[in-house]
Amino acid sequence: MQNGGNTCYFNAVLQSLLALDKLRARMLGPNALKGNLGEELQKLFITTTNTNGTRGVLNPEKLFLHMCLMNSDFRPGVMEDSNNMLVSLLDGLNNEEPTIVESLFHCQADKHVSSKECEHTSVTTEDLNLSLAIPTKKPASVDDCLDLYAAGVIVDWHCMDCSAASAARNTSLNQEDTTVNNGQPEQPDNKTYGKEECSHLANSDRQARATDQNNGKLQVHDDYANQMEQCHKNQKKEDKIYRDATVQYRISKAAPLLTIQLKRFDYSHADRPDKLEDRVSFQDTLDIIKFMDPRHVEDDEYKYHLVAVIVHSGPRLCDGHFFAYVRASEIGWQQQESRGTPTWFRASDESITEVLLEEVLECQAYILFYERVEQPKANEVLEEHPPTGH
Ligand SMILES: [Zn+2]
Repeated sequence: MQNGGNTCYFNAVLQSLLALDKLRARMLGPNALKGNLGEELQKLFITTTNTNGTRGVLNPEKLFLHMCLMNSDFRPGVMEDSNNMLVSLLDGLNNEEPTIVESLFHCQADKHVSSKECEHTSVTTEDLNLSLAIPTKKPASVDDCLDLYAAGVIVDWHCMDCSAASAARNTSLNQEDTTVNNGQPEQPDNKTYGKEECSHLANSDRQARATDQNNGKLQVHDDYANQMEQCHKNQKKEDKIYRDATVQYRISKAAPLLTIQLKRFDYSHADRPDKLEDRVSFQDTLDIIKFMDPRHVEDDEYKYHLVAVIVHSGPRLCDGHFFAYVRASEIGWQQQESRGTPTWFRASDESITEVLLEEVLECQAYILFYERVEQPKANEVLEEHPPTGH
């Protein structure tokens, strides 16, 4: 794949997508995408299907330029993040008709949040975003990252029940004593109420996190009274109460394709290397049954095969290099003669070399692409393994 000037991050994403047979089947199917991105991507899939071993260099420039038009993060000649590209490309494709990204890539999960502070709970359904923090324990595996993600602790959960109760109390306080509206911390009732409800300000970590709710601006308070005053103002305006809480994700819908990003880059510190080089082990199969919501388990197995891995080499994002390990597609280019052990390739821009699976599993993975193993239908299982008599 041709490098158009620091486009290795983009090429690595495309090489990985081209290795996904389920995506390839949809892209070549009768209801292919109609938009700019979809049509350009489809051309790449067509070019790499049934080439009978012919070799050539792909030029994805048009698709890249469409991405530059869509997202100003991407500019010709400037290095960017593969994950940013992947997310933007999938978002862009998802906005085109007919949508194929939603059904192929989007897992859904129920997010259970509960707080021991107030014993309230909430359950919401959201798209699963497997952008995983790397745990500090060593050695760590992708399973450990998933464990960390699936059951975590947050300190700034906005408890709707407590907030509603606070709003009700606020209303009654306002009715009893209108001076509360002046936000004077000296007011006795006001202060008692404040201590109880503003406990989240006592912890500086929580204060920092609460800024997310405040358009990202950190409010600096010199003393407790000022904190109280600000807290009262905020609460009268928003009536938001924050709690320590545990969060659990349970997958309710497992998609045919799974992408997992390991958070290796930290953009928040300009003065130090922005990359985590920790090794995170992974296997060529991934079983997510333990993360499934028991109420939504329909199949016996939730196993996925590794299809592609994007790797970043170098200490910093801006001057490193992205490449991908890809499994040979069964319906695409470099068709396999037998359906034995899958062949793996290292795809680094124009250079494609065959590698052993061992090399792939040793790499410092950044983004992992998994394809779900088809569930055999009940009658097929019977045909393959007829019941044996004794
Ligand atoms: Zn609560």
